[in-house]
Amino acid sequence: MLLTRFFLPVLKENPKEAEIISHIYMLRAGMIQQSASGIYSWLPLGKIVLEKITEICRQEMIKSGANEILMPTLQSAEIWKESGRYEDYGKEMLRIKDRNNRNLLYGPTNEELVTEIFRTHVKSYKELPLNLFHIQWKFRDELRPRFGVMRGREFLMKDAYSFDVDYKSSIDSYNKMFMAYMQLFKKMGLKAIPMKADTGPIGGDLSHEFIIIADTGESEVYVEKELLNFEGSFASINYNDDLQEEVNKFTSFYAATEEKHNPSNISDVNNNLIKARGIEVGHIFHFGQKYSLPMKANISDTIGNNIPVFMGSYGVGLSRLVGAVIEANHDDKGIIWPKEITPWDYNIINLKSGDDECEKICLNLYKIMNKNSLKVLYDDTDERAGTKLARADLIGLPYQIIIGPKGIKDQLYDVKFRKSGDISRLSYDELLNFVQTN
Ligand code: ATP
Ligand code: MG
Repeated sequence: MLLTRFFLPVLKENPKEAEIISHIYMLRAGMIQQSASGIYSWLPLGKIVLEKITEICRQEMIKSGANEILMPTLQSAEIWKESGRYEDYGKEMLRIKDRNNRNLLYGPTNEELVTEIFRTHVKSYKELPLNLFHIQWKFRDELRPRFGVMRGREFLMKDAYSFDVDYKSSIDSYNKMFMAYMQLFKKMGLKAIPMKADTGPIGGDLSHEFIIIADTGESEVYVEKELLNFEGSFASINYNDDLQEEVNKFTSFYAATEEKHNPSNISDVNNNLIKARGIEVGHIFHFGQKYSLPMKANISDTIGNNIPVFMGSYGVGLSRLVGAVIEANHDDKGIIWPKEITPWDYNIINLKSGDDECEKICLNLYKIMNKNSLKVLYDDTDERAGTKLARADLIGLPYQIIIGPKGIKDQLYDVKFRKSGDISRLSYDELLNFVQTN
């Protein structure tokens, strides 16, 4: 991509309205623009990253056996009355009337709607287990929208819903999602820690939140030190296996959100317990028959009984993750994208626009790299070197290839590693070799 052809409205000053670093950098790097409180437009750079995060999540869901659907943002109030949540949900729910005075709402979550789809079509245990997921914008009229996309009112969520014939297989489905979440956050270059959590308005008997430790996180969490570095055995996850043992490896550590924290349970791990702040990026719930019972989503089980289906629901905050990734990966100059979700890998920077030789080398490199399907952004603007370098640090691509008159004279070109700040000086051949093997 040529930077002159890319819409990147970078801000020079720190925006006054932003309190935390991810919000500041997302505005400064031209990733988002606020349209109303807690509601954002996604500009090209933001959209690319959001898409990458979404795709990693989608692929892991598919790998785990879930089926992708797409439910609408607007839902009928009727099904929410059936489940009993229409009144309970309170002011966070955005209620809308259509021209015929029918009550609609902008979905804050989809348990009711997916249960309605399920009960229309599935009648027998033979069609189970089933997991339906979708990726769709949600609306919650949050009391205090803040921190940019981290606590928005409109936000993108992946939500999955499992359906099973009995408690045991329903827990199997829960475990599958538990491990899928461990995988997908890791594939985003993130360390998310599973913690026992409150079930809140979704309800149920079993629930874990996936938390990224960060000072700016809104949740207070208590976690055993060893869990912070515990990886589990990731390479060998097979979604057809019984995953209980894998899940137990994580849940055997003490880790709880503030609401679930119970000091009397932890006398033996006290010395290793850390109190920290964290960002909730995912939340899984097992709630059995809570929705299927009132909504009459019944199936015939293996011995011919007609029973309400067992369910769980599983959310990932995709738009929040963009902010969370930045909270976890930045320095005082800007964003440092993990390689897994960076918009491009390389940033070619021409320090002296108008200089024929600099331009020739940059363009040559750019062409070769494109030909080799490398992901590269070429800063071909005519701005000052200082402006370009600062912008490159702000937008945080992993490798900067910096071409200027001095490099041309010495026939040595700088590759700067954004994360460490280290610079390697390479000959042209070494540079080509570097980008092709890196
Ligand atoms: P929170 O406690 O942060 O308000 P929640 O527990 O109400 O979130 P869930 O119903 O568990 O949220 O939703 C699933 C995921 O959606 C959350 O783990 C979070 O990542 C994301 N999410 C929830 N609310 C918001 C929001 N207002 N803005 C952005 N993402 C959100
Ligand atoms: Mg939650």
